[in-house]
Amino acid sequence: MITRKQIAIDAVIKATELCQTVQSEMVSTDTIQKKDRSPVTIADFGSQAIICKVIGDTFPEDIVVGEEDANSLRSNSELLDRVVDNVKTTITVNANITGSHLGDDSDTIKHEQVCEWIDRGSGDIGESYWTLDPIDGTKGFLRKDQYAIALAWIDEGIVKLGVLSCPNLPHQLNGSSSDKGSLFVAVKGEGTSLHTLEGDFVKKIDISDSVPCLAESFESTHGDTDTHAKIANKLGLNAPPVQIDSQAKYGIVARGEASLYIRLPNPASPDYRECIWDHAAGMLVVEEAGGIVTDAHGMALSYLTGRRMTNNHGIIATTKSLHPIVLTILSEISL
Ligand code: AMP
Ligand code: MG
Repeated sequence: MITRKQIAIDAVIKATELCQTVQSEMVSTDTIQKKDRSPVTIADFGSQAIICKVIGDTFPEDIVVGEEDANSLRSNSELLDRVVDNVKTTITVNANITGSHLGDDSDTIKHEQVCEWIDRGSGDIGESYWTLDPIDGTKGFLRKDQYAIALAWIDEGIVKLGVLSCPNLPHQLNGSSSDKGSLFVAVKGEGTSLHTLEGDFVKKIDISDSVPCLAESFESTHGDTDTHAKIANKLGLNAPPVQIDSQAKYGIVARGEASLYIRLPNPASPDYRECIWDHAAGMLVVEEAGGIVTDAHGMALSYLTGRRMTNNHGIIATTKSLHPIVLTILSEISL
């Protein structure tokens, strides 16, 4: 019997292929100068379509709570054509691969069918559900920098499975590793492993002996960089912070390449509340590597409150030994 873990890995690998193809065809200077976000939009919709199709083919009853829906796409035929072309290419490439869960129906794929796959991701939070960020770190994607595809299975509010693909994250952040992409797989109670983007097992990972260093968003508007720096200073994390986009930050904390990922609301948007798909997969990756993830008050992240975690405030992902110290420092700073 095919498990949810196998399906999730397969779906994320195929979506990664689509995202890599779109990114490789993108002329980055054009994209930035013309502020044309269409490549990331195409990859975003395409990634969600592929993942929802793969899940739906095997587990048709499963609820998917994804970031996108196809409403705007249906009225933009040019964009829809490009999304459908990319989805078809991914399906065609995978049609004859043994073990692929994509099937061989690429010739018959209709535009509306692709929209329906995307809309499979518009589910409501239930007792159990998938949450999906088809492209996390869209700004990083456009810079040809870090981004992630993040899929998690949640059961009664507990994240049971997290699959996190970081196509541009080498197997070692600052090492000699030339392997370009990292796929993290975390299963509740079974640990976190690192895989190639093809799904081949590389190693189990853990957070021990982590480098005393802070990780935060590349986008300064997505956090409170001044307060992050103050906390790092108090903790003696003197190395320059690792500033990268997406849940790749959870991956590097899980591998011990940074000891603390902190994300406090930016002072310009103090009421910002985090989305479940931006954290579920990454959270389990860190926890199963031996770390701990809470909000800035030490509260568990809630996957039952809604698409946004309205009862949580900020994020801390760190080692079990640093966590109480970070909370003490935070309690001394008025949040
Ligand atoms: P990162 O690359 O870690 O900054 O994460 C990207 C995510 O940040 C996106 O998926 C958005 O959901 C989220 N985001 C957007 N605006 C904000 C904001 N003002 N504060 C915090 N996160 C944000
Ligand atoms: Mg995101």
